[in-house]
Amino acid sequence: MTRVVHKFGGSSLSSASRYQAVAQIVVGQCQLGDCVVVSAAGKTTNTLVKLWQSYQQQEQQSFNDILLQVENHQIELINALFQGEKQRQLADILLTELQVITQAANTKTLNEAELLAHGELWSARILANYLSESGLQAQAIDARTLFTVHNGQLVHQQNKQACLATLDNDHIFVVTGFIAADDQGNTVTLGRNGSDYSATLLANYSDAEAVSIWTDTQGVFSTDPRKVSNAIKYPKVCREQANLLARLGNPVLHAKTLSPLKNTSIKLQVRSSFDPEAPGTEIVKAGYSKAKRFITSFDNLDLVRVDRLGVNEVREVSQLIQHSIHHFVQNGEEFLLLPGAFTHQVSQYFAGRLTLVESHLQGFALVAPKADISALELQAKSVLTEQDVVLRFAHSDEDYALFLTDQAIDSDVLAILHDKLVNKGRELAVIIAGLGNVGEVFLEQCQTQVARLQAQFDLKVVGLLRSQQMLFAASGLNLDNWQTQWQNEAQAYEQNEVLERIEELDYEHKVVVDITASESFSLLYPEFVKRDCHLISANKYAGTAQQDWYLSLRQQLEERNLLWRYNTSVGAGLPVNFALADLQNSGDKITQVEGVFSGTLSWLCSEYDGSKAFSDLVLEAQAMGYTEPDPREDLSGRDMQRKLLILARELGLSLDVDDIDLEPLMPEHLATGSWQDFLAKKDELDAFYETKFAQAKANHCELRYTGLLSIAEGGKVDAKVGIAFAEQGSAIANLTPGDNIFVVKTLWYDANPLVIQGPGAGKEVTAAGIHSDLFWLCQNLK
Ligand code: ADP
Ligand code: ASP
Ligand code: MG
Repeated sequence: MTRVVHKFGGSSLSSASRYQAVAQIVVGQCQLGDCVVVSAAGKTTNTLVKLWQSYQQQEQQSFNDILLQVENHQIELINALFQGEKQRQLADILLTELQVITQAANTKTLNEAELLAHGELWSARILANYLSESGLQAQAIDARTLFTVHNGQLVHQQNKQACLATLDNDHIFVVTGFIAADDQGNTVTLGRNGSDYSATLLANYSDAEAVSIWTDTQGVFSTDPRKVSNAIKYPKVCREQANLLARLGNPVLHAKTLSPLKNTSIKLQVRSSFDPEAPGTEIVKAGYSKAKRFITSFDNLDLVRVDRLGVNEVREVSQLIQHSIHHFVQNGEEFLLLPGAFTHQVSQYFAGRLTLVESHLQGFALVAPKADISALELQAKSVLTEQDVVLRFAHSDEDYALFLTDQAIDSDVLAILHDKLVNKGRELAVIIAGLGNVGEVFLEQCQTQVARLQAQFDLKVVGLLRSQQMLFAASGLNLDNWQTQWQNEAQAYEQNEVLERIEELDYEHKVVVDITASESFSLLYPEFVKRDCHLISANKYAGTAQQDWYLSLRQQLEERNLLWRYNTSVGAGLPVNFALADLQNSGDKITQVEGVFSGTLSWLCSEYDGSKAFSDLVLEAQAMGYTEPDPREDLSGRDMQRKLLILARELGLSLDVDDIDLEPLMPEHLATGSWQDFLAKKDELDAFYETKFAQAKANHCELRYTGLLSIAEGGKVDAKVGIAFAEQGSAIANLTPGDNIFVVKTLWYDANPLVIQGPGAGKEVTAAGIHSDLFWLCQNLK
């Protein structure tokens, strides 16, 4: 029995490599008995429509040219995907079909629907053969043998029987989308973009559990992501809104797609065949998702008024022109929005009852929760006025508003509308991992930040994680008493459960805030990214991971339009990242960054004056909790090495941690062995330090432990962490014990460098630094 129906649209089958990618998805995701519904490859249906028009207009030359174009495209696919006998066989079948088309054209017996059907037939044949060659039991099925239409209506009972009789459990069926047959066996089509509908029909007839619509975007977005780069991908969209969008002509789902799912529990998802791992959009029943905001744009529409519009006429006209038509009533009058190319045809259909109100319209519809519509409508009008767009017509209903103009609504105007109408009022889900000192303060500070960010985002803390336990509340935790909620409701978890909970969150944006110091947690970042989470890390591991991993993470973030901030991983709350970014953005060039990025080492070096042995200071720092449990971890300099790497990457340099020379603040041989062994040899550490200190003094310098990154004019990079002699009077020499310092030299800050200094650790400043990242994130999600 069919479990899942997968539908691949033209955009997923636009080239041989796309067929291969689709085959991979089928291999990975399908079981025997599943169905794969396919559309015509790329824009084939458009080309076939042009072929039909040239036939109708008797433009022989153009007919031949277009037919040749079709042939070349199909042969190109066949040649790229098959070899030898199979290639010849498929090419022969195709050429025979093309000859039949030519003959039918010559004898004036060409039939439009039959001609258009070829697009889907070719796709199904190619994909089924390709899957068979990959070792699957695949079989192409012509949907005309499954779907029968009587008087313009699908004969559901008969179709169901046909499906149950044909679709066995021993094959993966590759079924043509878009087409059906009437009861005489003549081809009929289900309307442009109709393969989505074929897929849900098939799912209904074959009692499938789920339908996956694979397309070239990762799901249903707040607006066309090809036009507005920061369109929001919605994890869930309710059926009512998806239906409305479709009725308004949005291409992501065909207008009738949802009707076969009514009263069934068949799940529907929209996913990307270009990124099969990315979670898509689930189209859920009413009540399973909050209503969202969308903008869907139109071009080249005509607005017409129709007198005495009959009950079935919109459906009939839509069938006639094979496009969805938006119908609405205003002041008792019936209006239709038509694709401009069909107005003449529709006008003939209505024989004198149609009045053209406006032609060549562009515009958009705003779909939003009912409560927001009237306010948004006013806002939209004021944005349009600001943008000098004059409205020709507007209409609103309880869940959408329509704006039509004869001016261009380009991507820029669309982006502004999106920012002002959709991006406001969004919800941001925050998941906090790590509830140590900093995590707790961060949560406390959240209460005031929620109010501060309210204008842009409704910020909800939805998840808290410690290494052993988690607490999730999808609609947001109460920040006043999260501790009580934690005590009562936190549960032990497996890693997968966290990922599942995150995936389920129905929010416009999600961010994972990593305040752990855990490398294994940082390894989950790609999983969070796959679930569309932005990242904020105080944790240094991901920022200092191996180049390949780091770059692939960055790439995945970029592909999904996600942001990553890790300001506090270097210098806690100190605004080093802002300074570096500003300098670079202002056209300056950074030539050197030197500094002390460890509070412990800062304190040890600045406190030492020779009156006490260095090891005594180390033990004192340890006793005060200023060091790692084994202070040699601090003395090793590795932490500073990682921080320098983060700074270097922030400057766009491609370095790995091993590219940074490291000289520890102790004799190398003391690094190994137990802490007791080390204590037994502490004199060696003291002698080591004393010698260096004396050398520094002899050079009129202070002994410091610094990280240094220099970028020479030719681009050569030098990076090292180790002992440094800081000239007396310099900022590094004068460093307050315990502070961090960053001394930045640039073309413009050369002789007199820019200095950022202050506490580089501490729960308040670190938590505030994380809030700074969160604030930045909210600003940049605009
Ligand atoms: P297919 O060939 O897979 O059927 P379509 O071209 O019919 O794909 O529909 C997908 C296209 O819909 C996307 O490429 C995108 O440009 C467009 N689109 C418009 N609005 C949206 C939206 N809100 N969300 C996602 N895609 C959208
Ligand atoms: N190939 C048809 C069209 O282009 C059906 C579809 O793509 O869904 O309209
Ligand atoms: Mg489509």
